[in-house]
Amino acid sequence: MTNVPIVQLNYEKSSRWQTLLAQAITNPLELLKILELDENLLLAAKLASRDFKLLAPRNYVDKIKKGDFHDPLLRQILPIAEELIENNDYLKDPLQEALTNPIPGLLHKYQGRVLLTITGACSINCRYCFRRHFPYSENRMNKTNFDQIINYLAQNSSIHEVILSGGDPLVATDNYLAKLVDKITSIAHIRRLRIHSRLPIMLPDRITPEMIAWLSRPNLKSILVLHINHPNEMDEHLAMALQKLIAAKITLLNQTVLLKGVNDQAAVLAELSEKLFNYGILPYYLHTLDKTAGTAHFDLTPEAISKIYDALQTLLPGYLVPKLVREKAGAKYKTLII
Ligand SMILES: *Cc1c(COP(=O)(O)O)cnc(C)c1O
Ligand code: SF4
Repeated sequence: MTNVPIVQLNYEKSSRWQTLLAQAITNPLELLKILELDENLLLAAKLASRDFKLLAPRNYVDKIKKGDFHDPLLRQILPIAEELIENNDYLKDPLQEALTNPIPGLLHKYQGRVLLTITGACSINCRYCFRRHFPYSENRMNKTNFDQIINYLAQNSSIHEVILSGGDPLVATDNYLAKLVDKITSIAHIRRLRIHSRLPIMLPDRITPEMIAWLSRPNLKSILVLHINHPNEMDEHLAMALQKLIAAKITLLNQTVLLKGVNDQAAVLAELSEKLFNYGILPYYLHTLDKTAGTAHFDLTPEAISKIYDALQTLLPGYLVPKLVREKAGAKYKTLII
């Protein structure tokens, strides 16, 4: 067939990422088999995934070394026994976000910017995530509160930036996102749109022509903050997809969570920053772990954190050193740790 209409081509392209998303691995036994791991890990994986299931796209699993239980990408997705250990310092809502939540789906915690939770879904379930206990079914944007949220944005002229978060906002369809961004664009005091997502790492195909279009509305500067934790998560497919965003003048930033057993070495973080820069992304934040129930095994002592960060600063030019921050309940901005 030669005369395939463009519209149809675009449609096929955007549905490809949805197909890949639907084919993600959710069965712990399948994951262990694919990665040639000890099947003795199965019982713990099943128990630890009862409340927060295993979810990993195949592209992500392809980047994991077979037979290596300590692979830094595997640690982010495999449910393990340590998650079941109770620890009273790790809570279900460590950030007490319920307090800054005027409308379900909208967090207005920091001056000038609001965060919209547009979906509870993600392309991957990261074991360290605070999302594992978040009551998304009640607290996200939906048909009922959509207009109320748009009105809130329109009536608060101090709001200059809208941040789409989740879950992962890019799990939503381009149709929905385009509609939402059109509403946001029509509000004159909103100057910036920021998307926080991990999805392009798993599925570079998510960067569709439609996405570039809704990210490039006039009068609205767009920023995409990727959440890459390890250099092994980045490959040529991602680099190529990012080129399209760079060509459309979309600012690319990265945010990393500092995780024991994943990226708790200055050399790894330095390699990550160098690689990010090569891909056209600037390092933005290095977050310490939110103390969420079931994630204590990813945490580091304050002493270990400063040691890593000191070493990192000796390895990089200042513009490649991400800001080390922590989220404190009730604070007016993310707290810098020095
Ligand atoms: C992190 C965060 C923001 C954005 O903070 P920046 O420092 O601008 O990146 C906004 N709202 C909430 C609720 C956040 O957690
Ligand atoms: S919100 Fe981010 S860190 Fe949490 S599971 Fe989703 S992609 Fe992973």
